[in-house]
Amino acid sequence: MTGNGRLTIREAQRLLETRQLSSVELTKDCLERIRQVEPEVHAFVTVSDELALKQAKEADDLLAAGNGQPLTGIPVAVKDNMCTRGVRTTCSSKMLENFIPPYNATVVEKLKAAGAVMVGKANMDEFAMGSSTENSAFFTTANPWDKNRVPGGSSGGAAAAVAAGECVFGLGSDTGGSIRQPASFCSVTGLKPTYGRVSRYGLIAFASSLDQIGPLTRDATDCALVMDAISGYDSNDSTSSPLPLPNLSACLSGDIKGLRLGVPKEYFVQGMQPEVAAAVKEAIGKLEELGAEIDWEVSLPSTSYALAVYYIIAPSEASANLARYDGVKYGFSYTDTDSMWQAMEKTRELGFGAEVKRRIMLGTYALSAGYYDAWYVKAQKVRTLIGREFDQAFNKYDALLTPTSPTVPFKIGERMDDPFQMYLSDVCTLPINIAGVPAVSIPAGFSGGLPVGLQIIGKPYDEATILKIADAYQQATDWHKKRPKI
Ligand code: GLN
Repeated sequence: MTGNGRLTIREAQRLLETRQLSSVELTKDCLERIRQVEPEVHAFVTVSDELALKQAKEADDLLAAGNGQPLTGIPVAVKDNMCTRGVRTTCSSKMLENFIPPYNATVVEKLKAAGAVMVGKANMDEFAMGSSTENSAFFTTANPWDKNRVPGGSSGGAAAAVAAGECVFGLGSDTGGSIRQPASFCSVTGLKPTYGRVSRYGLIAFASSLDQIGPLTRDATDCALVMDAISGYDSNDSTSSPLPLPNLSACLSGDIKGLRLGVPKEYFVQGMQPEVAAAVKEAIGKLEELGAEIDWEVSLPSTSYALAVYYIIAPSEASANLARYDGVKYGFSYTDTDSMWQAMEKTRELGFGAEVKRRIMLGTYALSAGYYDAWYVKAQKVRTLIGREFDQAFNKYDALLTPTSPTVPFKIGERMDDPFQMYLSDVCTLPINIAGVPAVSIPAGFSGGLPVGLQIIGKPYDEATILKIADAYQQATDWHKKRPKI
């Protein structure tokens, strides 16, 4: 039996609670599935079998004592940029290839406290820079729907692992689309929470004003369960929010009658595949049938600047964040030289891959004297304008609806020689991080057998409404129940 890894959290939870399935059995199923499909999928940098079985036994004890919580005994894949005590955390970079953190990220602590079982650390683009996992220093993850195509990125490993049934849910991080775009490409549900909703403590920093951790799951109900477990204020992250947490699972009423939903026309960008636009419009039509009021004529004119703003702000923050990899404190260290400067230079030359170096150069340039005002400060001003446009839209609408990605998953290798084409994968997701608002991507159909995603964008801290819309859609459709034939 290896099919249990394909259950939803809720289904698994019921079987665990009624003792029809034990966490050890469920975990072994996932580990067996990992052994079966990893030679093709390559979703994991590290499989933590021993730890998983230990945690599963503990979970079974908790369940037997009637002390289970919603995630107790449920197998999870954690993106390899979240620190796990005693388990190698590489960020899919040579720089951290042998780094074993002495502490857990807050989300990892929270999963542990909830009784979840970590089966492994998932592959990603190096330092989360990319949209395909092809920038991993180790290997490229394949899309379970078509092995010749990318799973999206940068959380491609976690999304592929969920799609292929190697775990019941995943945790990803999203700086410009890295949870939602792989969710769309792998036909799973992926949420980027409001900036500040989930603690970033122990998340290896890419661009600190944009990074957020969030769930990759099989449906909106599961997404709410994971959010309820990982959200909340953390004194170790000064940007985490002290606002009270709603019980998201209790907010999924299935009733979206009378909700006002806007469709910003700028997100149906030039170059979008017509079949993707058609599938997304059909999904929006379904929400209308379910009683939502759709305004198809919304305009957010600053959207066209988002890509430029992101590729100034994110690399600027990255160039500062990545300055810490100097070969002195931790990580890869080149020592075969007498000069300190040369050691540092060589460490960074050999430790970082091409895309990471490109970002460091872009960011260092934008922050340098003489260019700072022209690039960085200007980008910050436009960032404010983009945020204001969202504020204004949310005076009128309860949520906004767009495609998640302009295309279906592309072929491995297709965009590697053209960074700009790669950057364009995220045109529909970047503005959301710039504004700091929450958004979820849900399966909305297929084009030529390849997944299409619908993005639902919400007001700050209103994950409840977007998950309610996602859940209502999933109650009325079954795209999210389709599984790849791998
Ligand atoms: N693809 C985008 C980038 O390369 C977003 C990555 C992310 O969200 N981590 O920057």
